[in-house]
Amino acid sequence: MVAEIIAIGSELLSPYRIDTNSLELTEKLMEMGIRVGGKCVVGDNEEDISRAIRTAASRAQLIIITGGLGPTNDDKTREGISKALKLNLIFKKEIHNQIIEKYRQMKRNAEPPDNLARMAFVPEGAEIIENNVGAAPGLWIEMKEGELYILSLPGPPQEWRPMFEVVREKLSSFGNHFFSRRSLRIAGLREAEVEEKISPIYTGVKNPSVTILSSAEDIQIQIWGKAKEKQEAERLAEEMKESFLNVLEDNVYSLKDEPLEKVVGELLRKKEKTLAVAESCTGGLLSHRITNVPKSSDYFLFSGVVYSNEAKIKVLGVNEKDIKEHGAVSEEIATQMAEGVRKTAGADFGIGITGIAGPGGGTKEKPVGLVYISLSWEGGAETKRFRFPGTRLQVKTYATSHALNMLRKRLL
Ligand code: ATP
Repeated sequence: MVAEIIAIGSELLSPYRIDTNSLELTEKLMEMGIRVGGKCVVGDNEEDISRAIRTAASRAQLIIITGGLGPTNDDKTREGISKALKLNLIFKKEIHNQIIEKYRQMKRNAEPPDNLARMAFVPEGAEIIENNVGAAPGLWIEMKEGELYILSLPGPPQEWRPMFEVVREKLSSFGNHFFSRRSLRIAGLREAEVEEKISPIYTGVKNPSVTILSSAEDIQIQIWGKAKEKQEAERLAEEMKESFLNVLEDNVYSLKDEPLEKVVGELLRKKEKTLAVAESCTGGLLSHRITNVPKSSDYFLFSGVVYSNEAKIKVLGVNEKDIKEHGAVSEEIATQMAEGVRKTAGADFGIGITGIAGPGGGTKEKPVGLVYISLSWEGGAETKRFRFPGTRLQVKTYATSHALNMLRKRLL
């Protein structure tokens, strides 16, 4: 079975909204053994939607559509389906009643607007998938005696996710092989270093397939095992994962798709340790990442963006003479920042970051991308010099990931 996905919404053709539904659906379908042969984004235009459905139907047996099922005039999915498949739209009184009832419950008995009726028009022969979160019902259509299936879902993920579960069983029966996925998240190594370690294991291997995704935040490896039996797909993916773990060792920080800040937070909580942070060039990004984790207040005590030399001296007790002698971007100052913030906050660990994020401000001795990161604890400290590539935001992001990783390694 081959599937195609159509994401409907004119906003998705603009630079302001990204279609993420199709990515999420692709993953779900792959796990069921259904190959996604293609996808497209179409604006809220009946003719365009109809054409996209006809094109998809000429290549795939399953079409999943998201969006455009709402009550407003620019929600054209029902009309597009009806036109493409030559199915009349039939008004269903019982669906209209349900929609009105739901509206009254949600809006405290307010008078329902007339346009709600649009959502009660259903292509003939379609099965209704109830929407327990929003108003617009979904549609399941079987055509040509099982040669073509169409699943039409509303756009908002919180609405379509539970509706997808209703048809999961049906879809699972279409898959003719199983996929099993493993993911490894890596910090502290460059992409080339990861590649060098794992390429002898996977080069020339077609199944499982391996993808390496590198960003300033981390490196992610995705492994997909494929087989007729679920167990065999699991075995293939698991064996490859274990081989990768053997060579990547503790540079792998998560096997569960968790962000680094969450992993570090869990370690701090488990070991009952606390953290304080002094950021210069990262401007609060490290603190932002740490506090993105719910309940980070259990271990995160204090952070300061100490941008100016004066702040470094006044707030953290950094030595003025050392700033003059070594410059604010130096091993000495990073170390003093980490120690200063740890002591000021009374934390078990302190992190200090100072660097040149660019694009300007670099010199021959201190080029753009140069960052010193220091980790301080009672009785010790570790300070490292890095040279990160990329834009200002990339340099900042690299710095925060390396800082978190230094702490992670220490906690291990
Ligand atoms: P309703 O109008 O009842 O909310 P709908 O089916 O008409 O549902 P849209 O109006 O097309 O859905 O989209 C509503 C919202 O859902 C969008 O503003 C966007 O936040 C989200 N959304 C829609 N399509 C996608 C997509 N492909 N990827 C991610 N989010 C999407």
